[in-house]
Amino acid sequence: MTKNRKPRTESALLINIGQLLTLALPGKPGPRRGPDLKQLGIIQDAAVLCLGGKIVSFGTTKDALRDPWVRKTIRKNRNRITEIDCTGKVVLPGFVDSHTHPVFTTPRLVDFEKRIEGASYEEIAAAGGGIRSSLEGVRNAKQAELASHVIDALQQMTAHGTTTVEAKSGYGLTLESELKSLEAIRDAASQWPGTVVATLLGAHTVPKEFAGRSAQYVDLVCNEMIPNAASQRLAHFVDVFHDKVAFSLEETQRIFAAAASHGLAVRAHVGQLSETPLESLLRFNPASFDHMDHVNDRDLSLLAKHDTVATLVPGANYFLGMKEYPNARRLIDAGVPVALATDYNPGTSPTLSMPMAMSLACTQMKMSPAEAIAAATINGAWALRLADRKGSIEPGKDADLAIFDVADYREIPYWFGVNRCEMTIMNGTISRRVTGHGRAGACRA
Ligand SMILES: [Zn+2]
Repeated sequence: MTKNRKPRTESALLINIGQLLTLALPGKPGPRRGPDLKQLGIIQDAAVLCLGGKIVSFGTTKDALRDPWVRKTIRKNRNRITEIDCTGKVVLPGFVDSHTHPVFTTPRLVDFEKRIEGASYEEIAAAGGGIRSSLEGVRNAKQAELASHVIDALQQMTAHGTTTVEAKSGYGLTLESELKSLEAIRDAASQWPGTVVATLLGAHTVPKEFAGRSAQYVDLVCNEMIPNAASQRLAHFVDVFHDKVAFSLEETQRIFAAAASHGLAVRAHVGQLSETPLESLLRFNPASFDHMDHVNDRDLSLLAKHDTVATLVPGANYFLGMKEYPNARRLIDAGVPVALATDYNPGTSPTLSMPMAMSLACTQMKMSPAEAIAAATINGAWALRLADRKGSIEPGKDADLAIFDVADYREIPYWFGVNRCEMTIMNGTISRRVTGHGRAGACRA
């Protein structure tokens, strides 16, 4: 058992904030849709008080420092509160990266180079690349080695402003290696001050030893992986890659039914390579449908009436060199709640930067900077069913904040390929960035 090395929770008073994006939208429950997606709830010259890992108060700096309750609270906790001057900076809720695959051992450089040369999927696999290379790495790795890769990714995400991460298994595809991957996620999460939500993605692809026998592989997922992950409390969600090259609609329904019978919530990769009908999956109340490059109008109008979030991952389209991106405007205008995530993985989206995903959302999917921010925060929280605790700055919510060294929030997606995040607060624990290479230090304020 890995020793829990989580730093202790701190209390903080952020003052003189140039722009505070609260993302609060009183009176509008549910994930943000349509015009509400660009409502950031901005306060100029603002202050936020966090105590014991929770946000307790926010407002203008002037009002906060005048408020008798805030003054009394600050006086009472003087020795425990770290004061942070945010003059000329933007403070917003920490990003919620609701779709990542961090349990792998090596980058897929053969894929990268071969794809640039124009090689096909089969040619990449023949050259020793493809998902099979990730499977070998994970199956052969010790749990501690996998955990160290995950904690490294989580720390780099911290440095880019992410405070909540969904982490999937899915590069083992045997009972033993999927459970080992989930245990590695649990171990890494216990060492990170942020929040991790684990997802079992046993149904990522059919491994080669089950070639031509996908029904038997689905049996393994339903009858062994899901019951074990549930009974050991290793996963909150079950995910399925539902597409023409992956799992069929019937197989996806079987896996969702098995998840439901073991008390696990569901989410799915859909419509990445081809249109996948969604209506019959909605009865399982999925938290999110991810990718959504291909979707029909009928499913869009159904999604507009559900809280299932459409999670877009433009990093994958970018890295695969695709000309087409998911049609975010069509989804938003139809009233579908949209989130953004990195899809951090070694094959198709090796980025852990939410600002990069947001920049791609703006330039390639024509989302406004405000929409990209809401999609990366509050709607990401909805996609993980954590919106009661995450995604906006409101009293009672977790003290998850990102402080950017920019004067205007639109600069966050504007400066692409560089990191302007200066500090991250995760459940009250402060992490300052200490080098210019995107690493968060363990250094305390
Ligand atoms: Zn994915």
